[in-house]
Amino acid sequence: MPPAKAVINPKGEKRVLAGHPWIFRSDVVDSDQAEPGDIVEVFFKNRFLGQAFYNPRSQITLRLLTSKREKIDRVFWKKRIEAAISGRRFIRQGRHAVRLIFGEADFLPSLILDRYDEALVFQTLSAGMERWKDDLIQIFEELLNPKAIIERNDPPVRELEGLVRQKGIVRGGTPIPFEISGIFVDPLEGQKTGLFLDQAENHLAAARYAGGRVLDLFCYQGGFSLAVAGAAHEVTAVDSSAPALNLLRQNSERNEMRNIRAVEANGFDFLRECQEKRESFDTIILDPPPFVRDRKNLTGGVRGYKEINLRAMKILNPGGILITCSCSQNFTPSLFEETLKESSRDAKRSIQVLEKRGAAPDHPVLLTFPESAYLQCWILRVI
Ligand code: SAH
Repeated sequence: MPPAKAVINPKGEKRVLAGHPWIFRSDVVDSDQAEPGDIVEVFFKNRFLGQAFYNPRSQITLRLLTSKREKIDRVFWKKRIEAAISGRRFIRQGRHAVRLIFGEADFLPSLILDRYDEALVFQTLSAGMERWKDDLIQIFEELLNPKAIIERNDPPVRELEGLVRQKGIVRGGTPIPFEISGIFVDPLEGQKTGLFLDQAENHLAAARYAGGRVLDLFCYQGGFSLAVAGAAHEVTAVDSSAPALNLLRQNSERNEMRNIRAVEANGFDFLRECQEKRESFDTIILDPPPFVRDRKNLTGGVRGYKEINLRAMKILNPGGILITCSCSQNFTPSLFEETLKESSRDAKRSIQVLEKRGAAPDHPVLLTFPESAYLQCWILRVI
Protein backbone atom coordinates (compact mmCIF):
# COMPACT_ATOMS: atom_id res chain seq x y z
CA MET A 1 0.00 0.00 0.00
CA PRO A 2 1.43 3.46 -0.82
CA PRO A 3 2.08 5.67 2.20
CA ALA A 4 -0.80 7.88 3.33
CA LYS A 5 -0.66 11.54 2.39
CA ALA A 6 -1.49 14.78 4.14
CA VAL A 7 -1.99 17.91 2.08
CA ILE A 8 -1.42 21.27 3.73
CA ASN A 9 -2.45 24.85 2.86
CA PRO A 10 -0.13 27.77 1.94
CA LYS A 11 0.13 28.84 5.60
CA GLY A 12 1.31 25.35 6.56
CA GLU A 13 3.75 25.30 3.67
CA LYS A 14 5.21 28.61 4.82
CA ARG A 15 5.81 27.17 8.29
CA VAL A 16 7.48 24.08 6.87
CA LEU A 17 9.76 26.16 4.64
CA ALA A 18 10.65 28.35 7.64
CA GLY A 19 11.84 25.21 9.45
CA HIS A 20 9.05 24.86 12.01
CA PRO A 21 8.40 21.18 12.78
CA TRP A 22 4.69 21.53 13.63
CA ILE A 23 1.67 21.91 11.36
CA PHE A 24 -1.63 22.71 13.05
CA ARG A 25 -4.93 20.99 12.31
CA SER A 26 -6.33 24.15 10.68
CA ASP A 27 -3.57 24.05 8.06
CA VAL A 28 -4.15 20.43 7.01
CA VAL A 29 -6.61 20.41 4.10
CA ASP A 30 -6.72 16.73 3.27
CA SER A 31 -5.48 13.46 4.74
CA ASP A 32 -6.43 10.08 3.37
CA GLN A 33 -6.86 6.92 5.45
CA ALA A 34 -4.23 7.80 7.99
CA GLU A 35 -4.65 6.74 11.62
CA PRO A 36 -3.41 8.62 14.70
CA GLY A 37 0.29 7.84 15.09
CA ASP A 38 0.90 6.94 11.42
CA ILE A 39 3.74 8.41 9.46
CA VAL A 40 2.41 10.29 6.41
CA GLU A 41 3.94 12.03 3.42
CA VAL A 42 3.30 15.77 3.55
CA PHE A 43 2.39 17.62 0.35
CA PHE A 44 1.66 21.18 -0.70
CA LYS A 45 -0.33 20.83 -3.91
CA ASN A 46 1.73 18.17 -5.73
CA ARG A 47 5.01 18.99 -4.08
CA PHE A 48 6.47 16.57 -1.51
CA LEU A 49 7.66 18.43 1.60
CA GLY A 50 8.60 15.62 3.94
CA GLN A 51 7.32 12.90 6.26
CA ALA A 52 5.54 13.52 9.55
CA PHE A 53 3.77 11.90 12.47
CA TYR A 54 0.05 12.32 11.95
CA ASN A 55 -2.58 12.75 14.64
CA PRO A 56 -5.89 14.41 13.69
CA ARG A 57 -6.97 14.40 17.37
CA SER A 58 -4.18 16.77 18.29
CA GLN A 59 -4.03 20.48 17.44
CA ILE A 60 -0.49 19.63 16.37
CA THR A 61 -1.68 17.35 13.60
CA LEU A 62 1.65 16.92 11.84
CA ARG A 63 5.11 16.68 13.42
CA LEU A 64 7.76 16.71 10.72
CA LEU A 65 10.40 14.03 10.91
CA THR A 66 12.39 14.48 7.71
CA SER A 67 12.28 16.39 4.45
CA LYS A 68 13.50 13.30 2.59
CA ARG A 69 11.80 10.22 1.19
CA GLU A 70 13.99 8.01 3.41
CA LYS A 71 12.79 4.90 5.23
CA ILE A 72 11.73 5.59 8.81
CA ASP A 73 12.59 2.51 10.80
CA ARG A 74 14.61 1.42 13.83
CA VAL A 75 17.86 2.37 12.06
CA PHE A 76 16.52 5.89 11.42
CA TRP A 77 15.69 6.39 15.11
CA LYS A 78 18.94 4.91 16.30
CA LYS A 79 20.95 7.35 14.15
CA ARG A 80 18.98 10.33 15.43
CA ILE A 81 19.37 9.20 19.04
CA GLU A 82 23.10 8.60 18.60
CA ALA A 83 23.46 12.11 17.17
CA ALA A 84 21.63 13.65 20.14
CA ILE A 85 23.74 11.74 22.65
CA SER A 86 27.07 12.40 20.98
CA GLY A 87 26.20 16.12 20.80
CA ARG A 88 26.25 16.13 24.60
CA ARG A 89 29.61 14.53 25.22
CA PHE A 90 31.00 17.81 26.55
CA ILE A 91 28.19 18.14 29.09
CA ARG A 92 28.23 14.63 30.44
CA GLN A 93 31.75 14.80 31.80
CA GLY A 94 30.88 17.21 34.59
CA ARG A 95 27.27 16.36 35.28
CA HIS A 96 25.52 13.20 36.31
CA ALA A 97 22.03 14.36 35.50
CA VAL A 98 21.64 15.36 31.86
CA ARG A 99 18.88 15.70 29.29
CA LEU A 100 20.04 13.51 26.41
CA ILE A 101 17.09 14.12 24.10
CA PHE A 102 15.10 17.35 23.98
CA GLY A 103 12.31 16.49 21.53
CA GLU A 104 11.92 18.65 18.44
CA ALA A 105 15.14 20.56 19.18
CA ASP A 106 16.99 17.22 18.74
CA PHE A 107 14.94 16.25 15.66
CA LEU A 108 13.10 13.65 17.74
CA PRO A 109 9.63 15.20 18.04
CA SER A 110 7.91 14.68 21.40
CA LEU A 111 10.63 12.41 22.79
CA ILE A 112 12.39 13.30 26.05
CA LEU A 113 15.23 11.29 27.54
CA ASP A 114 16.99 12.21 30.78
CA ARG A 115 19.93 10.42 32.28
CA TYR A 116 20.34 10.26 36.04
CA ASP A 117 23.62 8.46 36.59
CA GLU A 118 22.86 4.91 35.49
CA ALA A 119 19.10 5.31 35.24
CA LEU A 120 17.18 6.68 32.26
CA VAL A 121 13.82 8.43 32.34
CA PHE A 122 11.89 8.90 29.10
CA GLN A 123 8.68 10.45 27.82
CA THR A 124 6.89 9.72 24.54
CA LEU A 125 4.46 12.62 24.27
CA SER A 126 2.72 12.04 20.93
CA ALA A 127 0.72 9.19 19.41
CA GLY A 128 3.42 8.88 16.73
CA MET A 129 6.36 8.51 19.12
CA GLU A 130 4.35 6.23 21.42
CA ARG A 131 4.15 3.63 18.61
CA TRP A 132 7.93 3.33 18.59
CA LYS A 133 8.27 2.91 22.34
CA ASP A 134 9.50 -0.70 22.32
CA ASP A 135 12.12 0.05 19.69
CA LEU A 136 13.20 3.16 21.56
CA ILE A 137 13.66 1.26 24.81
CA GLN A 138 15.82 -1.31 22.99
CA ILE A 139 17.89 1.43 21.39
CA PHE A 140 18.41 3.11 24.78
CA GLU A 141 19.64 -0.22 26.16
CA GLU A 142 21.99 -0.80 23.24
CA LEU A 143 23.49 2.67 23.33
CA LEU A 144 23.58 3.43 27.04
CA ASN A 145 23.37 0.13 28.90
CA PRO A 146 21.41 1.65 31.81
CA LYS A 147 20.68 -0.10 35.12
CA ALA A 148 17.05 1.00 34.96
CA ILE A 149 14.65 2.62 32.50
CA ILE A 150 11.70 4.58 33.83
CA GLU A 151 8.70 5.71 31.82
CA ARG A 152 7.33 9.06 32.93
CA ASN A 153 4.38 9.35 30.63
CA ASP A 154 1.98 11.14 32.96
CA PRO A 155 2.01 14.76 31.73
CA PRO A 156 -1.45 16.09 30.76
CA VAL A 157 -0.29 16.76 27.15
CA ARG A 158 -0.59 13.01 26.55
CA GLU A 159 -4.37 13.40 26.76
CA LEU A 160 -4.35 15.96 23.94
CA GLU A 161 -2.87 13.16 21.83
CA GLY A 162 -5.51 10.64 22.92
CA LEU A 163 -2.94 8.73 24.99
CA VAL A 164 -3.36 7.39 28.52
CA ARG A 165 -1.23 8.83 31.31
CA GLN A 166 1.08 6.23 32.79
CA LYS A 167 4.38 5.81 34.57
CA GLY A 168 6.55 3.02 35.94
CA ILE A 169 9.84 1.19 35.84
CA VAL A 170 10.00 -0.60 32.49
CA ARG A 171 13.48 -2.16 32.69
CA GLY A 172 15.76 -3.14 35.53
CA GLY A 173 15.30 -1.86 39.02
CA THR A 174 16.46 0.94 41.21
CA PRO A 175 15.59 2.17 44.69
CA ILE A 176 13.48 5.32 44.36
CA PRO A 177 14.11 8.11 45.24
CA PHE A 178 17.76 7.61 44.39
CA GLU A 179 20.66 9.84 45.24
CA ILE A 180 22.83 11.43 42.63
CA SER A 181 25.77 13.70 43.49
CA GLY A 182 24.26 14.28 46.93
CA ILE A 183 20.80 15.18 45.61
CA PHE A 184 17.75 12.98 46.02
CA VAL A 185 15.80 12.48 42.81
CA ASP A 186 12.33 10.96 42.63
CA PRO A 187 11.73 10.15 38.96
CA LEU A 188 8.31 8.64 39.67
CA GLU A 189 6.70 11.20 41.99
CA GLY A 190 8.86 14.30 41.46
CA GLN A 191 7.97 17.10 39.04
CA LYS A 192 9.07 16.81 35.41
CA THR A 193 11.30 13.70 35.30
CA GLY A 194 12.58 14.34 38.83
CA LEU A 195 14.73 17.45 38.48
CA PHE A 196 14.56 20.77 36.65
CA LEU A 197 17.62 19.96 34.56
CA ASP A 198 17.07 23.07 32.44
CA GLN A 199 18.10 25.19 35.45
CA ALA A 200 21.27 23.24 36.26
CA GLU A 201 23.73 25.83 34.97
CA ASN A 202 21.68 28.70 36.38
CA HIS A 203 22.00 27.14 39.83
CA LEU A 204 25.78 27.39 39.46
CA ALA A 205 25.57 30.94 38.08
CA ALA A 206 23.40 31.96 41.03
CA ALA A 207 26.10 30.75 43.42
CA ARG A 208 28.50 33.33 41.97
CA TYR A 209 26.23 36.24 42.91
CA ALA A 210 24.26 35.12 45.96
CA GLY A 211 25.12 36.07 49.52
CA GLY A 212 23.74 37.22 52.87
CA ARG A 213 20.07 36.47 53.59
CA VAL A 214 18.70 34.54 50.63
CA LEU A 215 15.08 33.88 49.67
CA ASP A 216 14.56 31.03 47.19
CA LEU A 217 10.92 31.33 46.17
CA PHE A 218 9.35 28.43 44.22
CA CYS A 219 12.32 26.34 45.34
CA TYR A 220 11.02 22.84 44.45
CA GLN A 221 13.55 20.48 46.07
CA GLY A 222 16.18 23.16 46.37
CA GLY A 223 18.13 23.33 43.11
CA PHE A 224 19.06 26.97 43.77
CA SER A 225 19.08 26.73 47.58
CA LEU A 226 21.64 23.95 47.70
CA ALA A 227 23.84 25.69 45.15
CA VAL A 228 23.89 29.02 46.99
CA ALA A 229 23.84 27.83 50.64
CA GLY A 230 27.64 27.77 50.87
CA ALA A 231 27.86 31.44 49.93
CA ALA A 232 24.85 32.51 51.98
CA HIS A 233 24.35 33.40 55.61
CA GLU A 234 20.96 31.71 55.55
CA VAL A 235 18.51 30.51 52.92
CA THR A 236 14.72 30.58 53.22
CA ALA A 237 13.36 28.11 50.68
CA VAL A 238 9.63 28.40 49.91
CA ASP A 239 7.37 26.11 47.89
CA SER A 240 3.72 25.05 48.02
CA SER A 241 4.60 21.37 47.50
CA ALA A 242 5.16 19.33 50.67
CA PRO A 243 6.81 16.36 48.87
CA ALA A 244 9.28 18.75 47.19
CA LEU A 245 10.17 20.25 50.57
CA ASN A 246 10.66 16.78 52.05
CA LEU A 247 13.26 16.06 49.39
CA LEU A 248 14.82 19.47 50.08
CA ARG A 249 15.15 18.63 53.78
CA GLN A 250 16.79 15.30 52.91
CA ASN A 251 19.10 17.07 50.48
CA SER A 252 20.17 19.68 53.06
CA GLU A 253 20.79 16.99 55.66
CA ARG A 254 22.74 14.80 53.27
CA ASN A 255 24.94 17.77 52.33
CA GLU A 256 25.18 19.04 55.92
CA MET A 257 23.75 22.40 54.97
CA ARG A 258 22.22 23.62 58.17
CA ASN A 259 21.43 27.14 57.02
CA ILE A 260 18.50 26.20 54.75
CA ARG A 261 15.01 26.65 56.19
CA ALA A 262 12.19 25.01 54.21
CA VAL A 263 8.80 26.76 54.35
CA GLU A 264 5.58 25.42 52.88
CA ALA A 265 3.62 28.43 51.62
CA ASN A 266 2.01 30.11 48.67
CA GLY A 267 4.69 32.26 47.06
CA PHE A 268 2.45 35.30 46.59
CA ASP A 269 1.25 35.22 50.22
CA PHE A 270 4.78 34.71 51.48
CA LEU A 271 6.07 37.82 49.67
CA ARG A 272 3.13 39.90 50.92
CA GLU A 273 3.79 38.81 54.49
CA CYS A 274 7.49 39.62 54.20
CA GLN A 275 6.56 43.11 53.08
CA GLU A 276 4.10 43.51 55.96
CA LYS A 277 6.66 42.29 58.48
CA ARG A 278 9.33 44.50 56.89
CA GLU A 279 11.63 41.57 56.28
CA SER A 280 14.46 42.16 53.85
CA PHE A 281 16.86 39.98 51.89
CA ASP A 282 20.21 40.37 50.13
CA THR A 283 19.40 37.85 47.39
CA ILE A 284 16.03 36.73 46.03
CA ILE A 285 15.48 33.92 43.54
CA LEU A 286 12.13 33.73 41.72
CA ASP A 287 11.55 30.59 39.68
CA PRO A 288 7.76 30.26 39.41
CA PRO A 289 5.73 27.77 37.37
CA PRO A 290 4.65 29.07 33.93
CA PHE A 291 2.11 31.84 34.63
CA VAL A 292 1.44 32.50 30.93
CA ARG A 293 0.06 29.32 29.44
CA ASP A 294 -1.07 30.56 26.04
CA ARG A 295 -0.65 33.59 23.85
CA LYS A 296 -4.31 34.55 24.05
CA ASN A 297 -4.27 34.74 27.84
CA LEU A 298 -1.36 36.99 28.54
CA THR A 299 -2.87 39.45 30.98
CA GLY A 300 -3.31 37.30 34.09
CA GLY A 301 0.09 35.68 33.67
CA VAL A 302 1.90 38.96 33.13
CA ARG A 303 0.22 40.33 36.25
CA GLY A 304 1.62 37.35 38.19
CA TYR A 305 5.17 38.02 37.01
CA LYS A 306 4.78 41.71 37.76
CA GLU A 307 3.51 41.09 41.28
CA ILE A 308 6.30 38.78 42.39
CA ASN A 309 9.05 40.88 40.80
CA LEU A 310 7.67 44.11 42.21
CA ARG A 311 7.37 42.72 45.71
CA ALA A 312 10.81 41.11 45.53
CA MET A 313 12.36 44.44 44.45
CA LYS A 314 10.68 46.17 47.39
CA ILE A 315 12.11 43.80 49.98
CA LEU A 316 15.64 43.57 48.59
CA ASN A 317 18.35 45.47 50.43
CA PRO A 318 20.14 48.17 48.39
CA GLY A 319 22.56 46.50 45.98
CA GLY A 320 20.75 43.18 46.44
CA ILE A 321 20.66 40.47 43.77
CA LEU A 322 17.44 39.38 42.06
CA ILE A 323 17.58 36.16 40.07
CA THR A 324 14.29 36.09 38.21
CA CYS A 325 13.12 33.34 35.87
CA SER A 326 10.27 32.60 33.50
CA CYS A 327 9.53 29.28 31.83
CA SER A 328 6.50 30.64 29.89
CA GLN A 329 7.34 30.44 26.21
CA ASN A 330 4.87 33.23 25.37
CA PHE A 331 6.35 35.57 27.96
CA THR A 332 8.95 36.81 25.46
CA PRO A 333 12.23 38.50 26.45
CA SER A 334 10.82 41.89 25.43
CA LEU A 335 7.67 41.33 27.49
CA PHE A 336 9.80 40.18 30.41
CA GLU A 337 11.93 43.31 30.09
CA GLU A 338 8.85 45.53 29.95
CA THR A 339 7.41 43.85 33.05
CA LEU A 340 10.67 44.27 34.95
CA LYS A 341 10.79 47.96 33.96
CA GLU A 342 7.26 48.49 35.25
CA SER A 343 8.04 46.61 38.45
CA SER A 344 11.17 48.64 39.08
CA ARG A 345 9.33 51.90 38.42
CA ASP A 346 6.56 50.97 40.85
CA ALA A 347 9.09 49.74 43.42
CA LYS A 348 11.10 52.96 42.92
CA ARG A 349 14.32 50.99 42.45
CA SER A 350 16.96 51.14 39.69
CA ILE A 351 18.03 47.91 38.07
CA GLN A 352 21.33 46.82 36.59
CA VAL A 353 21.15 43.75 34.35
CA LEU A 354 24.13 41.50 35.06
CA GLU A 355 23.24 38.43 32.99
CA LYS A 356 20.46 37.20 30.74
CA ARG A 357 20.58 33.45 30.69
CA GLY A 358 18.57 30.64 29.14
CA ALA A 359 18.32 26.90 29.68
CA ALA A 360 21.39 24.70 30.05
CA PRO A 361 22.93 23.57 26.74
CA ASP A 362 21.50 20.07 27.06
CA HIS A 363 18.21 21.85 26.20
CA PRO A 364 19.34 23.32 22.88
CA VAL A 365 17.26 26.03 21.24
CA LEU A 366 16.35 25.19 17.65
CA LEU A 367 16.36 28.60 15.98
CA THR A 368 13.34 27.81 13.82
CA PHE A 369 11.35 26.37 16.76
CA PRO A 370 10.72 29.22 19.22
CA GLU A 371 8.95 26.81 21.57
CA SER A 372 12.39 25.46 22.49
CA ALA A 373 13.47 28.89 23.81
CA TYR A 374 11.09 28.92 26.75
CA LEU A 375 13.38 29.48 29.73
CA GLN A 376 14.76 32.85 30.82
CA CYS A 377 16.87 33.54 33.87
CA TRP A 378 17.88 37.16 34.42
CA ILE A 379 20.36 38.15 37.07
CA LEU A 380 19.83 41.73 38.26
CA ARG A 381 21.29 44.09 40.82
CA VAL A 382 18.62 46.15 42.55
CA ILE A 383 19.97 49.55 43.62
N1 SAH B 1 13.58 26.40 41.38
C1 SAH B 1 13.38 24.99 41.14
C2 SAH B 1 12.26 24.70 40.16
C3 SAH B 1 10.94 25.38 40.49
S1 SAH B 1 9.60 24.82 39.57
C4 SAH B 1 14.70 24.38 40.66
O1 SAH B 1 15.54 25.13 40.18
O2 SAH B 1 14.86 23.17 40.77
C5 SAH B 1 8.30 25.73 40.25
C6 SAH B 1 7.91 25.37 41.67
O3 SAH B 1 6.88 26.24 42.08
C7 SAH B 1 7.37 23.96 41.86
O4 SAH B 1 8.17 23.30 42.80
C8 SAH B 1 5.95 24.15 42.41
O5 SAH B 1 5.64 23.22 43.44
C9 SAH B 1 6.03 25.53 42.98
N2 SAH B 1 4.78 26.29 43.03
C10 SAH B 1 3.78 26.35 42.12
N3 SAH B 1 2.86 27.26 42.48
C11 SAH B 1 3.27 27.79 43.67
C12 SAH B 1 2.76 28.79 44.54
N4 SAH B 1 1.63 29.44 44.27
N5 SAH B 1 3.47 29.08 45.65
C13 SAH B 1 4.62 28.43 45.94
N6 SAH B 1 5.15 27.49 45.14
C14 SAH B 1 4.49 27.17 44.03
